[in-house]
Amino acid sequence: MARYTGPVCRLCRREGLKMFLKGERCYTDKCAVDRRHYIPGQHGQARPGKVSEFGRQLREKQKVKRIYGIQEKQFRGYYELAARKEGVTGENLLSFLERRLDNVVYRLGFATSRSEARLLVRHGHVLHNGKSVDIPSLLVKAGDEVKIVDASKDNVRVTESVESVERRGVPAWLTLDKKALIGKVATLPARADVTMPIEERLIVELYSK
Ligand code: SF4
Repeated sequence: MARYTGPVCRLCRREGLKMFLKGERCYTDKCAVDRRHYIPGQHGQARPGKVSEFGRQLREKQKVKRIYGIQEKQFRGYYELAARKEGVTGENLLSFLERRLDNVVYRLGFATSRSEARLLVRHGHVLHNGKSVDIPSLLVKAGDEVKIVDASKDNVRVTESVESVERRGVPAWLTLDKKALIGKVATLPARADVTMPIEERLIVELYSK
């Protein structure tokens, strides 16, 4: 699956939001959003013009895609799944995104960013229900277990990341055994578990036009 490989701080600056795409650096005074709180590019410091409703919807979609590191085609797929499922489409959409294995690995603190978590999964450092998996988009279910393989338990990136997990916080729908590097999906994520400022309603309006 294709992924964005360009400069990520630029993405945060474009959205005017700390999206925590770069791991530990995001918590230091080197964060580009804190240092240059204007959109990147030649006209970034110009007075912003009026944004249309369509523009707001588009920006919201871009923002969420960037937070979770997902390209358009796959994101659209999640929307269609969410729309078919019972319940509120926007909330279903966020729930699908949260349930991705790479997001779970990040939220458990095994990695400091979702992109690092994706690499951990891709490179076989993660077991899902005791089995080796290399699919970052795998959707976890309630009761699932996610753990770091024994051979990678001393991996410095993983151990340092888990050490700083309190700063990022483990959401209530997951439980973490920090010592054993084992996480459990206690329940499916609820809307309140998504702490980033997201107006999912705008994305639903955009796609349902
Ligand atoms: Fe975004 Fe992190 Fe870069 Fe700050 S340091 S702009 S939060 S990716």
